[in-house]
Amino acid sequence: MTESSERSEHPETMIWANSGDAHLVEPADLFTTSLPADLAERMPRSVKDADGRWETLHIDGAEYRRRIPKLSDAETGQDVFERAPNANDPVRRLLDLNQEGIWAELVYPSIGIWTASITDPVLLRVGSEAINDWAIEFQRSSPRYVPTATIPLLDPADAVAEIVRATGMSFKAGFFSVTPPTGVDDWQSEIWEPVWATLAETGMVLAFHIGTEPHEADSNPGGYFRGRGGALLNYMETTYGGQRAVTKLIATGVFDRHPALKVVVSEGGATWGPFVADRLDEAYRTHFSAVRPRLDRLPSEYLYTNVYASFQHDRSAVAAATAMGWTNVMWGSDYPHLEGTFGHTQKTLHELFDDVPETSRHRITVGAFAELFPHVPPAPE
Ligand code: MN
Repeated sequence: MTESSERSEHPETMIWANSGDAHLVEPADLFTTSLPADLAERMPRSVKDADGRWETLHIDGAEYRRRIPKLSDAETGQDVFERAPNANDPVRRLLDLNQEGIWAELVYPSIGIWTASITDPVLLRVGSEAINDWAIEFQRSSPRYVPTATIPLLDPADAVAEIVRATGMSFKAGFFSVTPPTGVDDWQSEIWEPVWATLAETGMVLAFHIGTEPHEADSNPGGYFRGRGGALLNYMETTYGGQRAVTKLIATGVFDRHPALKVVVSEGGATWGPFVADRLDEAYRTHFSAVRPRLDRLPSEYLYTNVYASFQHDRSAVAAATAMGWTNVMWGSDYPHLEGTFGHTQKTLHELFDDVPETSRHRITVGAFAELFPHVPPAPE
């Protein structure tokens, strides 16, 4: 008996959840059909090796080698490279979501995630516009899709302009890499103030996705570490960027100046939130004489109020909400990526939530997401 037929016989066991982390995969011809040829060829693209194990990313004239993420099927031992072939079709994708019990999705780009490695502001601007024009067409297939607009971050003025344009196109969230592109001042800088102000004014949610730091030309191909321990070390490295980004916003008083600004960190787990909040509060108290700028409230209050996070499998994440008081925790599928829950979403949700009181379960599976994106129709009960 397959999992799906088992579920259809027991519909009462379906847990519906909104997903704070999913991805669109831009079509291969997106840029050749939307941009002049000289610009299209410099936008990010992947050329896979014949054996399917490595790929070369071509981004704005630079090349980066990386190992293609893959998963081994636990039963057959075979490598699995693609698990969700429906993901790129806006109608068939809904069949996958219905099967998995995923209602609405915060959807990040895929190629768009590499835009932090583009160095030409003009290319980044028009390329981001092309991605966003395509993503909003995808969105028009269903209100369950909440795509993030790719925000060009080489020039804050370009970022402001695209936030305004994207809001006008009905985007509700903007994708930001966890650090700005190489050579651009970091989030602590005053150059970003107009961007935070525009996000707060438009109501666009600032959406960080972990693992989106720009590629460095001299970095190791395929990750930060190679050899012994590399796979686990690299997976941890991708996690810290979201925590740093949030810390920079809190430490520089961004939420005092822009209290309406809402931030989500996707795919980075959840228990880090209370941990970072505690550390910041201790620092604020014990190093108060050196703290600049002074904050209106304790650092933890901003993290617990303005910041949200998504996790997929983490067993400790529910406790961040139920035992540590951070109620802005939401579940995420990471569909269709290999780290995600496609194929076992219901199993994961039951393992996470069967012993959790209904109010807390509802908050984490659907409520926190609905608070960020109130325009989305409510999930089935
Ligand atoms: Mn993801």
